[in-house]
Amino acid sequence: MIGETITIAVDFDGTIVEDKYPRIGKPIIFAFETLKKLQDKGHRLILWTYRKGPELEEAVQFCKDNGIVFYAVNNSFPEEEFNLSHSRKINADIFIDDRNVGGLMSWGEIYQELVGEKPISNKYTTKKKGWFSFLK
Ligand SMILES: [Mg+2]
Repeated sequence: MIGETITIAVDFDGTIVEDKYPRIGKPIIFAFETLKKLQDKGHRLILWTYRKGPELEEAVQFCKDNGIVFYAVNNSFPEEEFNLSHSRKINADIFIDDRNVGGLMSWGEIYQELVGEKPISNKYTTKKKGWFSFLK
Protein backbone atom coordinates (compact mmCIF):
# COMPACT_ATOMS: atom_id res chain seq x y z
CA MET A 1 0.00 0.00 0.00
CA ILE A 2 2.61 2.52 1.04
CA GLY A 3 4.37 3.99 -1.98
CA GLU A 4 1.60 2.99 -4.38
CA THR A 5 -0.95 5.43 -5.69
CA ILE A 6 -4.40 4.26 -4.80
CA THR A 7 -7.96 5.43 -5.24
CA ILE A 8 -9.88 6.03 -2.05
CA ALA A 9 -13.65 6.45 -1.93
CA VAL A 10 -14.79 8.52 1.02
CA ASP A 11 -18.29 8.85 2.39
CA PHE A 12 -19.45 12.27 3.62
CA ASP A 13 -22.14 12.16 6.32
CA GLY A 14 -20.89 10.44 9.45
CA THR A 15 -17.43 10.03 7.93
CA ILE A 16 -15.94 13.43 6.99
CA VAL A 17 -18.50 15.34 9.04
CA GLU A 18 -20.83 14.36 11.85
CA ASP A 19 -24.05 13.01 10.42
CA LYS A 20 -26.56 15.86 10.45
CA TYR A 21 -27.98 15.05 7.04
CA PRO A 22 -29.47 16.92 5.22
CA ARG A 23 -27.54 19.63 7.04
CA ILE A 24 -23.77 19.57 7.23
CA GLY A 25 -22.34 18.49 10.55
CA LYS A 26 -19.07 19.55 12.15
CA PRO A 27 -15.94 18.10 10.57
CA ILE A 28 -14.87 14.93 12.30
CA ILE A 29 -11.58 15.48 14.03
CA PHE A 30 -8.54 14.95 11.80
CA ALA A 31 -10.62 14.03 8.71
CA PHE A 32 -9.60 16.93 6.46
CA GLU A 33 -5.98 16.79 7.64
CA THR A 34 -5.82 13.12 6.74
CA LEU A 35 -7.47 13.62 3.34
CA LYS A 36 -5.02 16.44 2.53
CA LYS A 37 -2.08 14.28 3.48
CA LEU A 38 -3.38 11.45 1.28
CA GLN A 39 -3.69 13.84 -1.67
CA ASP A 40 -0.19 15.15 -0.99
CA LYS A 41 0.99 11.55 -1.26
CA GLY A 42 -0.61 11.37 -4.71
CA HIS A 43 -3.66 9.30 -3.88
CA ARG A 44 -6.96 9.92 -5.63
CA LEU A 45 -9.97 10.77 -3.51
CA ILE A 46 -13.50 10.09 -4.68
CA LEU A 47 -16.44 11.50 -2.76
CA TRP A 48 -18.91 8.64 -2.50
CA THR A 49 -22.17 9.68 -0.93
CA TYR A 50 -25.92 9.22 -1.22
CA ARG A 51 -26.24 13.00 -1.44
CA LYS A 52 -27.40 14.40 -4.76
CA GLY A 53 -28.50 17.73 -6.27
CA PRO A 54 -28.10 20.84 -4.09
CA GLU A 55 -27.24 18.77 -1.00
CA LEU A 56 -24.40 17.19 -2.90
CA GLU A 57 -23.19 20.57 -4.15
CA GLU A 58 -23.17 21.89 -0.59
CA ALA A 59 -21.05 18.96 0.54
CA VAL A 60 -18.61 19.40 -2.35
CA GLN A 61 -18.34 23.14 -1.61
CA PHE A 62 -17.85 22.48 2.10
CA CYS A 63 -14.95 20.15 1.35
CA LYS A 64 -13.49 22.67 -1.08
CA ASP A 65 -13.68 25.37 1.61
CA ASN A 66 -11.73 22.98 3.82
CA GLY A 67 -9.06 22.41 1.20
CA ILE A 68 -10.26 19.21 -0.43
CA VAL A 69 -11.15 19.02 -4.11
CA PHE A 70 -12.10 15.49 -5.12
CA TYR A 71 -10.86 13.66 -8.17
CA ALA A 72 -14.43 12.57 -8.83
CA VAL A 73 -17.80 12.79 -7.12
CA ASN A 74 -20.08 9.75 -7.05
CA ASN A 75 -18.20 8.49 -10.08
CA SER A 76 -15.14 6.42 -10.79
CA PHE A 77 -13.78 9.05 -13.16
CA PRO A 78 -14.14 12.82 -13.49
CA GLU A 79 -17.14 13.78 -15.62
CA GLU A 80 -17.90 10.15 -16.30
CA GLU A 81 -21.20 9.78 -18.06
CA PHE A 82 -23.50 7.00 -17.18
CA ASN A 83 -23.64 4.39 -19.84
CA LEU A 84 -24.54 0.77 -19.67
CA SER A 85 -21.07 -0.40 -20.57
CA HIS A 86 -19.76 0.93 -17.24
CA SER A 87 -20.25 -0.94 -14.06
CA ARG A 88 -22.22 1.05 -11.52
CA LYS A 89 -19.88 -0.24 -8.88
CA ILE A 90 -17.33 2.40 -8.13
CA ASN A 91 -13.73 1.61 -8.90
CA ALA A 92 -11.82 2.29 -5.70
CA ASP A 93 -9.11 0.43 -3.83
CA ILE A 94 -10.32 1.46 -0.41
CA PHE A 95 -13.57 2.75 1.04
CA ILE A 96 -13.74 4.95 4.11
CA ASP A 97 -17.30 4.79 5.35
CA ASP A 98 -19.01 4.89 8.73
CA ARG A 99 -21.28 2.05 7.55
CA ASN A 100 -18.34 -0.36 7.66
CA VAL A 101 -18.83 -3.45 9.73
CA GLY A 102 -17.47 -2.43 13.10
CA GLY A 103 -17.91 1.27 12.35
CA LEU A 104 -15.40 3.91 11.35
CA MET A 105 -11.82 3.83 12.61
CA SER A 106 -10.63 7.12 14.04
CA TRP A 107 -9.03 9.36 11.41
CA GLY A 108 -5.82 9.14 13.40
CA GLU A 109 -5.86 5.38 12.84
CA ILE A 110 -6.84 5.78 9.18
CA TYR A 111 -3.91 8.15 8.74
CA GLN A 112 -1.50 5.67 10.27
CA GLU A 113 -2.93 2.81 8.25
CA LEU A 114 -2.80 4.60 4.87
CA VAL A 115 0.08 7.05 5.23
CA GLY A 116 2.19 4.64 7.21
CA GLU A 117 3.37 7.17 9.73
CA LYS A 118 1.98 8.72 12.83
CA PRO A 119 -0.03 11.92 12.45
CA ILE A 120 1.93 15.04 13.36
CA SER A 121 -0.12 15.55 16.46
CA ASN A 122 -0.77 12.67 18.78
CA LYS A 123 -3.52 14.49 20.54
CA TYR A 124 -6.13 13.12 18.13
CA THR A 125 -5.05 9.53 18.30
CA THR A 126 -6.07 7.09 20.90
CA LYS A 127 -3.62 6.33 23.66
CA LYS A 128 -4.70 2.74 23.70
CA LYS A 129 -2.16 0.47 22.08
CA GLY A 130 -3.42 -1.78 19.33
CA TRP A 131 -2.16 -5.33 19.07
CA PHE A 132 0.07 -4.21 16.20
CA SER A 133 2.26 -2.41 18.67
CA PHE A 134 3.50 -5.80 19.88
CA LEU A 135 4.97 -6.47 16.44
CA LYS A 136 7.10 -3.33 16.43
MG1 LIG B 1 -22.26 7.86 6.21
